[in-house]
Amino acid sequence: MPRHSNTSLATIIPPVNADSTATCSSELFLKHPHPKETPLYTGESRFPTIMTTAPITFLMETSTVRVIDRTTSQPSAVREAWKQELAEAVRDPTELCTLLNLDPVVAHRADNTSQNFPLLVPRGFVSRMQQGDPNDPLLLQVLPRLEELDDTPGFVSDPVGEQPARRGTGLIQKYHGRCLLLVTGGCAVHCRYCFRREFPYAESGASPASFADAVAEIRSDQSISEVILSGGDPLLVDDQLLETLVHDIASVPHVRRLRIHTRIPVVLPSRITKQLLHILHTTRLTVCVVIHSNHAAELDCVVAESIQRMGQVVPLLLNQAVLLRGVNDTAESLIQLSERLLDLGITPYYLHLLDPVRGASAFDVPEHVGVQLIEELRNRLPGYAVPRLARENPGTPSKTWLA
Ligand code: SF4
Repeated sequence: MPRHSNTSLATIIPPVNADSTATCSSELFLKHPHPKETPLYTGESRFPTIMTTAPITFLMETSTVRVIDRTTSQPSAVREAWKQELAEAVRDPTELCTLLNLDPVVAHRADNTSQNFPLLVPRGFVSRMQQGDPNDPLLLQVLPRLEELDDTPGFVSDPVGEQPARRGTGLIQKYHGRCLLLVTGGCAVHCRYCFRREFPYAESGASPASFADAVAEIRSDQSISEVILSGGDPLLVDDQLLETLVHDIASVPHVRRLRIHTRIPVVLPSRITKQLLHILHTTRLTVCVVIHSNHAAELDCVVAESIQRMGQVVPLLLNQAVLLRGVNDTAESLIQLSERLLDLGITPYYLHLLDPVRGASAFDVPEHVGVQLIEELRNRLPGYAVPRLARENPGTPSKTWLA
């Protein structure tokens, strides 16, 4: 029995159009109420009004949330819904363990580990975790563990050699014809295995202040035909800022493609707003969005709805996953992931071996196991459903394909 019972929750006025999406959203909402009994935002909600027992009322208006003070009936804030959801993300291991009905000892261990790279996970993502399961594959990706403090030989702060490839204005160029622009150091979730968990964003120039210089540098290099927006998570910045950046990049004649590497459609699907889709739809650049999902359970119906809307304007949707011990290191898990991705119109692109970043050794899966897993996938899936197993070796001119 979840610790936070539904019965203490709000009265919900039924959706105007009671279709399957609305049902899906309401289930998600009811399953995982915020401990303070404020509602979770659940994508572009069809609920016209949600009343809560908390001293506020939320009005859902497609992508915005109006927070109304009940005592004055006046709006106290107007905020895009995804920003509200991000503001309410779980940052405290004890709260996360309480929400999931887990032993407090688990939280205590996490507390002792998370100072340098703190816990951050949106409540929508938490809602897809299994109650009472400390080995839930989604939980393992976000909950700090004591093993992070181990000093494992070969696990270093810059495992893919990005520091020598920095060009000073938030740009990184490792491969011919493509350059990567660090749009922000922020993310909507902190993945414990992240190869940039120690990246020095503050000194990298990854900020709006350096965008003009970065675009000028791209303009001066005729060999660049593709710009990759990365981070952190590039979709974490405001639509207005993103629109200006995309516009400026598109003004460079030799740039043909814009690639966006993001985990946000998976962990914060409410971010896929109409305005964002408009930006991606109206640029002259060919847009490719590479999402990052590691497990089929991450891709629930709320995520599916956002991705399907994105698929209507983005010609190429790909997924890159990381092979992670305890999360997706079985053929069954990887097959389910590929099947689910294809259901959503996403091509499984890469399965990366873990980049050996300090603190992440508990996730490591040996290369020969990865190769065997891909063999199994080949025997059971059509070729287009089998991702390439890849490793990134510092200083090499491309990724190394292992299977
Ligand atoms: S979302 Fe991406 S950049 Fe951010 S912590 Fe996770 S893996 Fe790293």
